[in-house]
Amino acid sequence: MMRRKLVAGNWKMNGNRAALAELNGIAAAASANPAVDVAVAVPFTLIERAAERVPGLAIGAQDVHDADKGAHTGCTSAAQVREAGAVFTIVGHSERRGDQHETSHDAWAKSAAAHRNGLTVILCCGETEAERDAGRAERVVQAQVEKSLPDDADGSWLTLAYEPRWAIGTGRTPTMDEIASIHAIARAKMRQMIGDRADGVRILYGGSVTGDNAAAILSLDNVDGALVGGASLTATKFVPIITAAAAL
Ligand code: PEP
Repeated sequence: MMRRKLVAGNWKMNGNRAALAELNGIAAAASANPAVDVAVAVPFTLIERAAERVPGLAIGAQDVHDADKGAHTGCTSAAQVREAGAVFTIVGHSERRGDQHETSHDAWAKSAAAHRNGLTVILCCGETEAERDAGRAERVVQAQVEKSLPDDADGSWLTLAYEPRWAIGTGRTPTMDEIASIHAIARAKMRQMIGDRADGVRILYGGSVTGDNAAAILSLDNVDGALVGGASLTATKFVPIITAAAAL
């Protein structure tokens, strides 16, 4: 099945109003390459301004709460980010699993909350370095998918992102064979869970993707795009990844 490539940026806790100027160059590259979907997850504080500034670009959040509202000091609901102009959210990012001790069950509940409030979802999974060294990368990813993928998932609203934790922000990447192998395993696990609908779900690779390695990574089987942290912060670094995806 043909799946459109998605290149998604994650600004994490970076960026201020001045940084929004970067979105102009990113939006221009997105319209110049209509065969590729482009999205940027900005900090909560910038969602509304970003969505107003570049209406043609998919702006998203980096997390949402699993409840629709209530006494959850410091948290933000899917409905709130939707109202601010977000059209998608990341859930289960490894930095939230690590820093906020989020589990795959949390990622499952957050995916469901996002979906019922009209957001699409980038659901992250990925092993730690210790897990890979112990030969457990495949089993860890299978278990994360099993516990976090909602039963009603399909490609119209959910994208999976495989992000080995040790490759995030480190400049290190797995070998091409290792990436292809985990993506195939994730696809097979989804197929076991949701049948043929799994074929429509995009699987992004994330972890130190740059303009230099994007073409090689994005041309692998079952790699349907990239989730990009550091290299999404400027148009100069992000646009080459978009054009690499468009050239495939
Ligand atoms: C990420 O934030 O999801 C990520 C992959 O970061 P980086 O591209 O900086 O490794």
